[in-house]
Amino acid sequence: MKVPFGNLKLHYETYKASIDKSVERVLASGHFILGPELTRFEHDFEEFLGAGYVAGCASGTEAIYLALKACGVGDKDEVMVVSHTAVPTINAISMTGATPVFVDVDASTYVMDVTEVEAKITQRTKVIVPVHLYGQMVDMEPLLKIADKFGVRVVEDAAQATGATYRGAKAGTIGDFGAFSFYPSKNIGAFGDGGAVAAKSREDFDRLIMLRNYGQSKRYYHDIIGINSRLDELQAAILSCQLPYVEEWNKRRREIAHLYTEGLKDFVVTPLEAEYGRHVFHLYVIQTAHRDQLQAYLSEQDIQTLIHYPIPAHMQNAYAYLGYKPSDLPATEYLAKRILSLPMFPSLTDSQVLQVVKCIREFHQKREFFVDSTPMDVSSTCVKMEGGLARPFSQR
Ligand SMILES: *Cc1c(COP(=O)(O)O)cnc(C)c1O
Repeated sequence: MKVPFGNLKLHYETYKASIDKSVERVLASGHFILGPELTRFEHDFEEFLGAGYVAGCASGTEAIYLALKACGVGDKDEVMVVSHTAVPTINAISMTGATPVFVDVDASTYVMDVTEVEAKITQRTKVIVPVHLYGQMVDMEPLLKIADKFGVRVVEDAAQATGATYRGAKAGTIGDFGAFSFYPSKNIGAFGDGGAVAAKSREDFDRLIMLRNYGQSKRYYHDIIGINSRLDELQAAILSCQLPYVEEWNKRRREIAHLYTEGLKDFVVTPLEAEYGRHVFHLYVIQTAHRDQLQAYLSEQDIQTLIHYPIPAHMQNAYAYLGYKPSDLPATEYLAKRILSLPMFPSLTDSQVLQVVKCIREFHQKREFFVDSTPMDVSSTCVKMEGGLARPFSQR
């Protein structure tokens, strides 16, 4: 049985009737940019988030960029972020001219190690960007305390975390801004590029609305320097008809994660869900010391896997100028060698999941590999579990 990493064709076939209707409605309307479909989606997404003001934009990358610009970030500033993320997070910082400053991640939750933040804050730090990677949120409460103490603003990269929660509050509504991506494979995807920014305050929202539309306060009056970054009517209409399903899809993602964890926990390091939040499993990421061999084996069995991400941002050629050295971010570099993302999308069937589980078990049994206990995952995982910060997903 073939198990693909994603299946957007099947997704379209399942929702074809309502998507086609939305597309036809927009085409017939003759209104393609900044129209009623966008207004409706922004309103629906505000309701979904339960807080904040939402402005649609052209992509997740630009959502982060627009939020940073609304904070006034420029080339003299530093923006604190993790290196273990999709490189676009860092690109958005670079687009403002600011310098990205990297902190390490926690090797058991895969997200920003908040205990490292304060030591790296300088006079130039303007914004912290917590990235809710794989659908798991950063520990926001202590992070906001630090941000408050130093007068630094917070832009959440919630591109992989639509619907995730932190002590009941939705990802993207806790910091000053939340940035979302509607890249087709995200937890809610457009049929093309799309993004949105949620702002906590009306004043920040008003700035976003100008920034995304050439800096205009009203037509032909440009109060600030802006760009063109808009969510078009077609994508907004398609997103509106998908939004009612996101909760159901996220539930299914959690079910799939549970099935994987039950079957795999004695063989590989399975993901943990932090006690403070609800994980929405944009990706299901395991760790193993035999990652490359396992990936090749699964590929032979027709099971598609990916690595998110094989080369951390600070080790990319584009960011060599920042001067980071190997071992500057030990957990990030350790994970890059060990992580593997298994197939994860809502229409994945139980039998497909069990097929992946069976092949991973076979791979380990044939070679007599069991869950490996290299120092970093054992110490961090055990400490966190005993400290109550995180526990295995399977215990929920
Ligand atoms: C997808 C993604 C982005 C970029 O979003 P685009 O819509 O592709 O521009 C940024 N950050 C993270 C963590 C992402 O996963």
